Amino acid sequence: VAKILRGDSVRRVSEATEQLTRASTVGVLAMQGAFREHAQLLEPMADRVVEVRTPAQLEEVEALVIPGGESTAIRKQLDRSELYEPLRDRIAQGMPTLGTCAGLIVLANSPPDGAPPTFGLLDVSVERNGFGPQLFSFEAKVELDGTSREQTSGPGHAVHGVFIRAPRIERCGDGVEVIARLAEGSNSGEPVAVRQGSLVGCTFHPELAGEPVLHRLLMSIVAKGA
Ligand code: GLN
Repeated sequence: VAKILRGDSVRRVSEATEQLTRASTVGVLAMQGAFREHAQLLEPMADRVVEVRTPAQLEEVEALVIPGGESTAIRKQLDRSELYEPLRDRIAQGMPTLGTCAGLIVLANSPPDGAPPTFGLLDVSVERNGFGPQLFSFEAKVELDGTSREQTSGPGHAVHGVFIRAPRIERCGDGVEVIARLAEGSNSGEPVAVRQGSLVGCTFHPELAGEPVLHRLLMSIVAKGA
C-alpha cells in the first residue's frame, strides 16, 4: 500500500484536493453600511471572513467586498484609517473586488458630479443618487446575464434588487461587461451590475435581499482568476 501511495497518481490527487480546499480568506470593508450582512452571505462560501478596517487586516484577505453606504464618508474613512493607498494598490494589482452601491461609486473612474474619483479603477461613469427623488428607494427584478446565471442555485435568471439612493451607470468603458439589467419598471433594460476582469460592481444591495449571486461570482473569480 505504501508503495502505491507514494506513486505519481497520489501526488496528483493530493494536488487536486489542495486546489479544491485551498483556504480562501475574504474581507468586507467595515467602515460603514451593511458590512455584517455581506459577511453573513460570504461565510458559507469562504473559509474565513475578515472585517477590514486596517492595512494589516487587508493583507490577510485575497478578495474584498466594499459595501454600500455613503461614498463620501467611505472616502474620508479610507484616508483616516490609512487604507486608501494599500487598498488602491491591491485592487489595481487584481484583487477580486465586489463594490455594491456606494462601493461601486468608490471603484468607478468618473463620478459625473465633478468630484474626483476615489479609486478610479473601474471604467464606468456613475451618477450618484441617479434615479432621482421619485425613485429614491425601490425594489425591482434584476435580470442576470449568462456568466452570473451560472452562480445562481435555482432555475431563475432574475434576482430581487433593493435600490437605496442608488447610483446610475451612465457609461461603460470598452473593457466593461454588463452582467445584470433592470427587468421591470420604466428604466427596464438599463445596466445595474458590471464586471471588468477581477472587479464587479452593482448599483443595488444584494446583502439586504440575502441574494448571494454576486458574492458567488466573486468567489469564482478567486477560484479561477480574473
Ligand atoms: N447615495 C449614496 C452615495 O452617493 C449611495 C447609496 C448606497 O450605497 N445605498 O454614496
